[in-house]
Amino acid sequence: MSYVNELLVGGWSLVEGMKVTFRRLFHPLVTVQYPRKRLEMTTSYRGHIELKTFAETGTHKCISCGTCEKMCPSGVITVKGEKVVGGKGKAAVYWEIDFSKCSLCGICVESCPTETLQYSKEYQIVGETRADCVFDLIARLTNGAQQSREPVVEPKGKGAEASA
Ligand code: SF4
Ligand code: SF4
Repeated sequence: MSYVNELLVGGWSLVEGMKVTFRRLFHPLVTVQYPRKRLEMTTSYRGHIELKTFAETGTHKCISCGTCEKMCPSGVITVKGEKVVGGKGKAAVYWEIDFSKCSLCGICVESCPTETLQYSKEYQIVGETRADCVFDLIARLTNGAQQSREPVVEPKGKGAEASA
Protein backbone atom coordinates (compact mmCIF):
# COMPACT_ATOMS: atom_id res chain seq x y z
CA MET A 1 0.00 0.00 0.00
CA SER A 2 1.35 3.36 -0.93
CA TYR A 3 2.11 6.00 1.65
CA VAL A 4 -0.83 8.15 0.45
CA ASN A 5 -3.22 5.17 0.67
CA GLU A 6 -2.06 4.44 4.21
CA LEU A 7 -2.73 8.06 5.16
CA LEU A 8 -6.24 7.90 3.65
CA VAL A 9 -7.15 4.60 5.37
CA GLY A 10 -5.75 5.84 8.68
CA GLY A 11 -7.58 9.18 8.33
CA TRP A 12 -10.87 7.42 7.48
CA SER A 13 -10.65 5.09 10.49
CA LEU A 14 -10.02 8.18 12.66
CA VAL A 15 -13.18 9.81 11.25
CA GLU A 16 -15.21 6.60 11.90
CA GLY A 17 -13.95 6.46 15.48
CA MET A 18 -14.77 10.13 16.10
CA LYS A 19 -18.28 9.59 14.70
CA VAL A 20 -18.90 6.97 17.40
CA THR A 21 -17.42 9.28 20.05
CA PHE A 22 -19.66 12.21 19.04
CA ARG A 23 -22.76 10.00 18.89
CA ARG A 24 -22.11 8.78 22.46
CA LEU A 25 -21.60 12.39 23.67
CA PHE A 26 -25.31 13.09 23.30
CA HIS A 27 -26.58 9.83 24.85
CA PRO A 28 -27.79 9.82 28.49
CA LEU A 29 -25.18 8.60 30.99
CA VAL A 30 -25.53 4.98 32.12
CA THR A 31 -22.75 5.03 34.69
CA VAL A 32 -23.92 4.35 38.24
CA GLN A 33 -21.92 6.12 40.93
CA TYR A 34 -21.32 2.96 42.92
CA PRO A 35 -21.14 2.67 45.94
CA ARG A 36 -22.90 6.01 46.52
CA LYS A 37 -25.80 4.73 44.43
CA ARG A 38 -27.11 1.18 44.42
CA LEU A 39 -28.37 -0.70 41.43
CA GLU A 40 -31.93 -2.00 41.30
CA MET A 41 -31.54 -5.62 40.22
CA THR A 42 -33.80 -7.09 37.56
CA THR A 43 -36.61 -9.46 38.53
CA SER A 44 -34.75 -12.39 36.98
CA TYR A 45 -31.57 -11.77 39.01
CA ARG A 46 -30.62 -14.69 41.28
CA GLY A 47 -28.69 -13.84 44.40
CA HIS A 48 -28.17 -16.35 47.17
CA ILE A 49 -31.17 -18.16 48.60
CA GLU A 50 -33.01 -16.34 51.38
CA LEU A 51 -36.15 -16.77 53.46
CA LYS A 52 -39.28 -14.84 52.56
CA THR A 53 -41.09 -12.80 55.18
CA PHE A 54 -44.85 -13.21 55.16
CA ALA A 55 -47.05 -10.27 56.02
CA GLU A 56 -49.50 -12.23 58.17
CA THR A 57 -46.83 -13.71 60.47
CA GLY A 58 -44.05 -11.15 60.09
CA THR A 59 -41.54 -13.96 59.64
CA HIS A 60 -40.65 -16.99 57.49
CA LYS A 61 -42.73 -20.16 57.15
CA CYS A 62 -39.99 -22.79 57.33
CA ILE A 63 -41.34 -25.87 59.10
CA SER A 64 -37.98 -27.62 59.13
CA CYS A 65 -39.29 -30.46 56.97
CA GLY A 66 -35.83 -31.08 55.49
CA THR A 67 -37.04 -31.33 51.87
CA CYS A 68 -34.61 -28.68 50.61
CA GLU A 69 -31.77 -30.36 52.52
CA LYS A 70 -32.48 -33.70 50.86
CA MET A 71 -33.06 -32.26 47.38
CA CYS A 72 -30.03 -29.96 47.23
CA PRO A 73 -27.59 -31.55 44.75
CA SER A 74 -24.64 -29.73 46.30
CA GLY A 75 -25.49 -30.68 49.90
CA VAL A 76 -25.04 -27.14 51.15
CA ILE A 77 -28.17 -26.77 53.29
CA THR A 78 -28.53 -27.56 57.00
CA VAL A 79 -31.85 -26.85 58.72
CA LYS A 80 -32.59 -27.32 62.40
CA GLY A 81 -36.04 -26.94 63.86
CA GLU A 82 -37.78 -26.95 67.21
CA LYS A 83 -41.29 -27.88 68.21
CA VAL A 84 -43.59 -24.86 68.23
CA VAL A 85 -44.50 -24.05 71.82
CA GLY A 86 -48.26 -24.28 72.21
CA GLY A 87 -48.73 -25.03 68.53
CA LYS A 88 -48.45 -27.78 65.96
CA GLY A 89 -45.35 -29.05 64.19
CA LYS A 90 -41.91 -27.53 64.08
CA ALA A 91 -40.37 -24.23 63.03
CA ALA A 92 -36.83 -23.71 61.83
CA VAL A 93 -34.46 -22.05 64.28
CA TYR A 94 -31.30 -22.44 62.18
CA TRP A 95 -31.08 -22.43 58.38
CA GLU A 96 -27.56 -22.67 57.01
CA ILE A 97 -26.43 -22.36 53.41
CA ASP A 98 -22.85 -22.56 52.15
CA PHE A 99 -23.13 -20.17 49.25
CA SER A 100 -19.58 -20.90 48.05
CA LYS A 101 -20.81 -24.31 46.82
CA CYS A 102 -24.37 -23.40 45.78
CA SER A 103 -24.96 -23.65 42.03
CA LEU A 104 -28.18 -21.58 42.23
CA CYS A 105 -30.02 -24.43 40.54
CA GLY A 106 -33.22 -23.41 42.35
CA ILE A 107 -34.30 -26.94 43.35
CA CYS A 108 -34.67 -25.88 47.00
CA VAL A 109 -36.85 -22.91 45.99
CA GLU A 110 -39.04 -25.11 43.78
CA SER A 111 -39.36 -28.01 46.22
CA CYS A 112 -40.19 -26.09 49.41
CA PRO A 113 -43.76 -27.02 50.44
CA THR A 114 -44.35 -23.69 52.22
CA GLU A 115 -42.80 -21.56 49.45
CA THR A 116 -40.70 -19.76 52.01
CA LEU A 117 -37.55 -19.62 49.89
CA GLN A 118 -36.63 -17.11 47.21
CA TYR A 119 -33.57 -15.69 45.47
CA SER A 120 -32.17 -12.61 47.12
CA LYS A 121 -31.28 -9.44 45.26
CA GLU A 122 -27.87 -9.25 46.93
CA TYR A 123 -24.96 -8.54 44.61
CA GLN A 124 -22.27 -7.21 46.90
CA ILE A 125 -21.67 -9.86 49.51
CA VAL A 126 -17.94 -10.36 49.88
CA GLY A 127 -15.69 -12.39 52.11
CA GLU A 128 -12.06 -13.27 52.56
CA THR A 129 -12.53 -16.95 53.34
CA ARG A 130 -14.94 -19.72 52.35
CA ALA A 131 -16.36 -19.58 55.86
CA ASP A 132 -17.59 -16.05 55.08
CA CYS A 133 -19.95 -17.62 52.51
CA VAL A 134 -21.76 -19.68 55.13
CA PHE A 135 -24.88 -17.87 56.29
CA ASP A 136 -27.62 -18.61 58.78
CA LEU A 137 -30.62 -17.29 56.89
CA ILE A 138 -32.73 -16.99 60.05
CA ALA A 139 -30.06 -14.82 61.71
CA ARG A 140 -29.89 -12.68 58.55
CA LEU A 141 -33.66 -12.33 58.59
CA THR A 142 -33.86 -11.35 62.25
CA ASN A 143 -30.82 -9.09 62.48
CA GLY A 144 -31.81 -7.03 59.44
CA ALA A 145 -28.85 -8.11 57.28
CA GLN A 146 -31.23 -9.37 54.61
CA GLN A 147 -32.21 -6.74 52.09
CA SER A 148 -35.49 -8.45 51.50
CA ARG A 149 -38.21 -7.08 49.38
CA GLU A 150 -41.72 -6.30 50.55
CA PRO A 151 -43.33 -8.98 52.75
CA VAL A 152 -45.34 -11.53 50.82
CA VAL A 153 -49.08 -11.02 51.11
CA GLU A 154 -50.90 -14.21 50.24
CA PRO A 155 -54.48 -14.34 48.94
CA LYS A 156 -56.89 -15.73 51.57
CA GLY A 157 -57.75 -19.16 50.20
CA LYS A 158 -58.48 -20.30 46.70
CA GLY A 159 -60.71 -18.06 44.64
CA ALA A 160 -59.93 -15.00 46.79
CA GLU A 161 -58.90 -13.02 43.71
CA ALA A 162 -62.03 -13.99 41.82
CA SER A 163 -64.31 -12.93 44.66
CA ALA A 164 -62.40 -9.69 45.33
S1 SF4 B 1 -30.02 -23.42 44.69
FE1 SF4 B 1 -29.53 -25.59 44.31
S2 SF4 B 1 -27.43 -25.83 45.00
FE2 SF4 B 1 -28.15 -23.89 45.87
S3 SF4 B 1 -28.93 -24.38 47.91
FE3 SF4 B 1 -30.69 -24.53 46.50
S4 SF4 B 1 -30.77 -26.68 45.83
FE4 SF4 B 1 -28.75 -26.33 46.75
S1 SF4 C 1 -37.14 -24.16 53.64
FE1 SF4 C 1 -38.95 -25.25 52.92
S2 SF4 C 1 -38.19 -27.23 52.21
FE2 SF4 C 1 -36.57 -26.34 53.48
S3 SF4 C 1 -36.93 -27.16 55.51
FE3 SF4 C 1 -37.99 -25.20 55.41
S4 SF4 C 1 -40.09 -25.70 54.80
FE4 SF4 C 1 -38.81 -27.50 54.34
